[in-house]
Amino acid sequence: MKKNNDRFKVAIIGAGKVGMTAAYALLLAGGFHEIALYGRDKRKLIGEKLDLEHATALSHKTAISVSDDPAELTDSDIFIFCAGAAQAVGETRLQLAARNLQIVDDLAPELLKASPKALLLMVTNPVDLLTMRAQEVTNTKKGQIFGSGTLLDTARFRFHLSEFLPVHPRSIHAYVLGEHGDHSFPAISSANIGAQPLTGFSEFSREKALEAYCKARNAANAIIGSKGATYYGIGASIAKIARSVVTNGQSVLSLSVVIDDYYGQSGMAISVPCVLGGNGIERAIKASLDDEEQERLKECVAALKGIYFASKPK
Ligand code: NAD
Repeated sequence: MKKNNDRFKVAIIGAGKVGMTAAYALLLAGGFHEIALYGRDKRKLIGEKLDLEHATALSHKTAISVSDDPAELTDSDIFIFCAGAAQAVGETRLQLAARNLQIVDDLAPELLKASPKALLLMVTNPVDLLTMRAQEVTNTKKGQIFGSGTLLDTARFRFHLSEFLPVHPRSIHAYVLGEHGDHSFPAISSANIGAQPLTGFSEFSREKALEAYCKARNAANAIIGSKGATYYGIGASIAKIARSVVTNGQSVLSLSVVIDDYYGQSGMAISVPCVLGGNGIERAIKASLDDEEQERLKECVAALKGIYFASKPK
């Protein structure tokens, strides 16, 4: 990782709704010397570049470049992988697996050939399976590849908890862990506000907390059913992740990584609280989970392994 952060280059892989919302969020957040847009349609990329360039005059000095060739993405510090098919109405993220695993096989090695030291942030769904796959098909050091995982689910959960708890979502320390999808689970037993367990608040009830979690888990379907795709929440999540990298922020975020003896589970990418700095994931934190939550973690890993090994290209 470069020490001189004023030359930090982010490459967005896949200039669709998520990729472009991320690019816009990064531009407004600032701190990035260059945002490179990679996609297959050069004509569209040129329009996206010009539109973003106009926004630089009102935000931060940032070079915008475009490419339809991964080999041109040299000197990148982080790749943000948003290329691939999006979830259709009623489709689970896991049903997307076979389609999008192939794109990872094709692109991930090419990207890391262009910039071998770059971090690779997976966003395309099913993000945990794709993170696992990217780790498998590239020769990278631990912590270099990770997925946005349940950072978005956690943000959604905190937002819905804040609808009945008396503080801003930022101050509700409650995580959604496991899969970004149907096999996620809320870590309610450790959730707290101001070092007081949620259960200590008169406004709290387990039913309301589970309802907040269900709203978070079903959010993608609700939004896709209404307007076709989700992109603002994930755009803000990507900006949060990239800022923690560019500032060497060591933020604790729920991100997808290949776990190694996490409550006895190994060999699959799922979300756990991670410390994220300039060199990627520094460590996974062992969240305090009660027996039921540990069981959910185990089920999540078993379910993902089942789907991963059934759907990965032969
Ligand atoms: P989109 O259809 O708007 O954009 C996808 C882009 O990928 C398109 O520009 C397409 O041309 C490009 N693409 C497809 N195959 C490619 C290839 N082989 N090489 C290069 N580019 C390729 O979709 P979107 O709404 O931007 O969603 C993108 C992905 O992000 C989806 O998989 C979606 O499910 C996922 N997503 C993830 C989260 C999360 O929390 N992880 C949240 C929202 C969406």
